[in-house]
Amino acid sequence: MECLFCKIANKLIPSHVIYEDVSAVSFLDINPISMGHTVVVPKEHAQNLLEIPDSSLGDFFGAVKNSTAMLQKALNPAGFTIGINHGRISGQSVDHLHVHIIPRFEGDGGGSLHSVVHNPPNEPLEAIKNRILESNKSK
Ligand code: 5GP
Ligand code: ZN
Repeated sequence: MECLFCKIANKLIPSHVIYEDVSAVSFLDINPISMGHTVVVPKEHAQNLLEIPDSSLGDFFGAVKNSTAMLQKALNPAGFTIGINHGRISGQSVDHLHVHIIPRFEGDGGGSLHSVVHNPPNEPLEAIKNRILESNKSK
């Protein structure tokens, strides 16, 4: 087993687990960017959202919700930023799907997801929509 998060999910590497069920494990990020910064991983290896089977998705996002509720109860943050770095360009460094749960506190100096990138398209939304729909038309 080469994958770091498979090893953590299988307890071959220790971590600070805050939640576990049959489908997922949630543990504190080793390099937290806020108090309670948590990473949720499916136990089943999948590189990203496009690779996880549909049948596993509900349970996985249930684990994200349960972990978020635990953090809310324990740490009482003002909110959360919850997200996935999906692919190298977005910052994904571990090729095992994981959702970051980042508790947000008043005055933490952080931004919204909109602060991640500033690269608006030149094409009108109508053309972009049409391209997406055309490419995904069932034959
Ligand atoms: P990514 O950048 O791939 O979205 O997030 C990977 C996250 O996993 C990083 O925030 C990093 O700090 C965390 N991480 C990497 N290795 C370990 C580890 O061995 N243990 C724990 N708990 N977190 C890790
Ligand atoms: Zn894995």
